[in-house]
Amino acid sequence: MAGEPDANCLFCKIVAGEVPATVVLETETTVAFRDINPQAPTHVLVIPRAHYPNALSLATGAPAVAADVLATAGAVAEHEGVADSGYRIVLNTGAGAGQTVFHVHAHLLAGRGLEWPPG
Ligand code: 5GP
Ligand code: ZN
Repeated sequence: MAGEPDANCLFCKIVAGEVPATVVLETETTVAFRDINPQAPTHVLVIPRAHYPNALSLATGAPAVAADVLATAGAVAEHEGVADSGYRIVLNTGAGAGQTVFHVHAHLLAGRGLEWPPG
């Protein structure tokens, strides 16, 4: 159920400390950790501690936490020294868009040329 821990969810296991991750920043409501398969020199995933499968369910179920995810992404950008040079925040939504983990996560990507429109 949205908002409740999902025993089968990889990112819930990272929040619980049951799966290791390289954590960059943590807040009361969010965790930011490095992607295991980075697509850019800076590639950090920002997630809510609570389980919501995608961006829309988070925005409707816990809108303040959706804002927290964006604020944490901004704080990570500052932490990584990419806030001024520019970065991209990506929310893949649905398998057809490349979402593979159904616990909402914002990708923060920076440190290389980022083409627009994306491939
Ligand atoms: P999606 O494709 O769902 O938008 O993004 C899922 C991301 O999670 C991928 O970029 C993938 O590399 C990352 N990922 C998958 N498994 C793990 C893991 O066990 N640890 C970490 N840190 N990242 C993971
Ligand atoms: Zn989860």
